[in-house]
Amino acid sequence: MKIGFVGLGTMGAPMAGNLVAAGFDVTVHNRTRQREEGFEKRASSPAEVASDKDLVVMMVSDTPDVEEVLFGPHGVVHGAPPGALIVDMSTISADATKDFGARLAEHDIAMIDAPVSGGSEGAEKGTLTIMVGGDEADVERARPVLDVLGGKVTHIGPLGSGQLTKAVNQVIISGYFEGVAEGLVLAMKSGLDPYKVVEALSAGMARSAVLEMRAKNMIEQTYPLGFKLALHLKDLKIALESGIDLPVARMVKETEERLVAEHGDEDMSALAIEVRRKAGL
Ligand code: NAP
Repeated sequence: MKIGFVGLGTMGAPMAGNLVAAGFDVTVHNRTRQREEGFEKRASSPAEVASDKDLVVMMVSDTPDVEEVLFGPHGVVHGAPPGALIVDMSTISADATKDFGARLAEHDIAMIDAPVSGGSEGAEKGTLTIMVGGDEADVERARPVLDVLGGKVTHIGPLGSGQLTKAVNQVIISGYFEGVAEGLVLAMKSGLDPYKVVEALSAGMARSAVLEMRAKNMIEQTYPLGFKLALHLKDLKIALESGIDLPVARMVKETEERLVAEHGDEDMSALAIEVRRKAGL
C-alpha cells in the first residue's frame, strides 16, 4: 500500500516514523519542510504527496488547516487519484468532517475520521486510542495502517463519529486534569509529600493516566509536551458548540482561555498554574 502522510508535528512525526518502520511505502509532506528531514521520501505539497497514493493520512492542527490541506490551491484533492482514501487523524469539528467527506466524494475520493488519544507517548509507541468514523469498507481498508499506529482501534459509526467521540474524551479529561491539579494543591497545602500521595493513590479509585503521567509536571511546575493546552482549548470549544451544558468543561475552558496566551504551547497540565495561584501556592 502506498501512503502519503501530511503533518509531521508532535504527533505526526512519530506516527509516520512508525509506518515506515512497519514497512509501508510512505511519502511525507510538512508545511515547514525542514521537519521532513529524516524521512527518505518527501513531497513538496499536499497535492504531490497524494498523487499515486492509495491512502493519505493527515495529522494537522485544526478544522481550517484540514480544509486548507484538502482543498487549498495545492491541496490533496488536486493530486489524489480517484478511489483514494483520506484518513484524517487530526481533531476537528464533526460537522466540518461530514462536509469535507461530501466534497471529496464529488472527486470519487473517500474519507474516514480517525482522531486519537494517548498523547505523544502513544504516538511514539504506536499505542494510540483511535476513534473511527466512516463506511465499514473504508475503515477496513485503513485498518492495517491504524493497527500500526494504535493499541485500540474502534469503529464507532458513520463519518464524524470519531470526532464526536474525541469531543467526549476531551470533556472527560478536563475533569481528570482539574481534579489531579486540585488534589495535589490540597496535598501540598496540607504539608504532605505529593510524590508519596501520588504513589499511594496510584492503585485506588483516583488512579488515571493523568495522575500517572502528568502529576509530576504539576508538582515540579514544568510542563513539557505532551499535549498543547491550546489544542485542548480548541477541542473543548468543539465540544461546547453542542450547546449542552457541561459545567466542568466550561470552567476548564475559561481557565485555559486565561492561560493560553502565556502557556498555550505548554502541556495541558499547565492548568495547575491557575489552581496553584488561586490557592496561594
Ligand atoms: P503540532 O505539533 O502543533 O503539529 C501540527 C502540524 O500541523 C504541523 O505539522 C503543522 O505544520 C501542521 N499544520 C498546521 N496547520 C497547517 C496548515 N494550515 N497547513 C498545513 N499544515 C498545517 O500538533 P500535534 O500535537 O501534532 O497535534 C496534531 C493533531 O492531533 C491536532 O488536531 C491535535 O488536537 C491532535 N492530538 C494531539 C495530541 C497530542 O498529545 N499532541 C493528542 C491527541 C490528538 P508546521 O510544522 O508547518 O507548523
